[in-house]
Amino acid sequence: MKSEYSYSNRRLRVRVGDDILNDVAHEVFLAGGTRALILTMPSRTLRQYAEMLLEALGERGGGIFDQALPHVPRGAIEAAKDAMKAAGADCCITLGGGSATGLGKALALEAEAHLPVIAVATTYAGSEATSIWGISENGRKATGRDDRVAPTTILYIPAWTSGLPVDLSTTSGINAVAHCVEALYAVDASPMTTLLAEEGVRAMAHALPRIKANPKDPEARAEALWGAHLAGRALDSASMALHHKLCHVIGGTFQMAHAATHTVILPYATAYNAPAAPEAMRAVARALGRDDREAAMGLFELNRALEVPPSLEAIGFKEAYITQTVDEVLQKTYPNPRPIEKDGLIKLLTDAFHGNPPGEY
Ligand code: NAD
Repeated sequence: MKSEYSYSNRRLRVRVGDDILNDVAHEVFLAGGTRALILTMPSRTLRQYAEMLLEALGERGGGIFDQALPHVPRGAIEAAKDAMKAAGADCCITLGGGSATGLGKALALEAEAHLPVIAVATTYAGSEATSIWGISENGRKATGRDDRVAPTTILYIPAWTSGLPVDLSTTSGINAVAHCVEALYAVDASPMTTLLAEEGVRAMAHALPRIKANPKDPEARAEALWGAHLAGRALDSASMALHHKLCHVIGGTFQMAHAATHTVILPYATAYNAPAAPEAMRAVARALGRDDREAAMGLFELNRALEVPPSLEAIGFKEAYITQTVDEVLQKTYPNPRPIEKDGLIKLLTDAFHGNPPGEY
């Protein structure tokens, strides 16, 4: 265990349960708001939940804005600001995954006064538990960390995740596992992030196969939300490394789906860093229940069992993009347990492109 470390906590209220709806107006009051605008994506399922939320909010409900979009484009932020003003809202409730949460965070970042954000998280991306924001403007996505954007209340309603399609559930779940794996070898890892991250992997590895077998299993859905919460908390307090940089470039430059990209890359990025992070690898293998396997191979086999997209090729990435991806990743500087080497990255991405078992890089 490290003998020198630091970590900090923000004020955070978390509630889990299928009957939270009855109290949601009180949650707005507790968060310091008087009238809340619901921010969500244009989805039929989410719209249905948004209407239930609005009804439950009664006089504290300011309406529904359902134009949250992936990667938080500037246009959506400005339209949401107008909707906040028109509704007389002093609080927002985000309803959905990282894209809806991201819109609430952007509003909080640019608000003149403190804007409470309540997050109802319906995927496993973990964004609701972090102070990380992202805004897309002029073809570029800026990201940063700022405590003002972190939701102060998180509501998890497991029943509202039972309609999350299986392919999104499994890839979103592995996105959470990726936060945990990188938190375990982060330069600023602490015993607290290690605890969160190892348990996050364990919860997800236990929940996802059960969700795959029965998407409506309420216990598995609740356990996956628990894993997502732990993963988000770990992500919030630890710096991410090679895996997240690779996914940022692949997603940002070539518009590959966020969660699926994380899912495909994770075993390979883990294999790359394995020689430099033996303790983290043991923790991952232990949490996967695969002490008999290298961590990277355990993750690869979990992906196989979940029948997620098997390769970068399967999600639309072209082999010709590999060189550009490597060049962009090499331009960035960030802490990583192992030095970033061009030849190793090319080999890593070539294996990921074909869906080969992870090797030595
Ligand atoms: P998402 O929010 O884009 O949602 C994916 C799809 O799932 C959407 O079509 C949505 O309508 C649908 N959906 C969500 N919940 C549903 C439900 N319960 N039932 C049915 N459909 C549902 O995807 P995501 O993977 O959650 O988030 C990805 C985004 O979040 C990326 O932009 C990523 O960069 C960001 N992110 C940010 C952080 C952070 O800490 N800031 C962390 C992780 C991800």
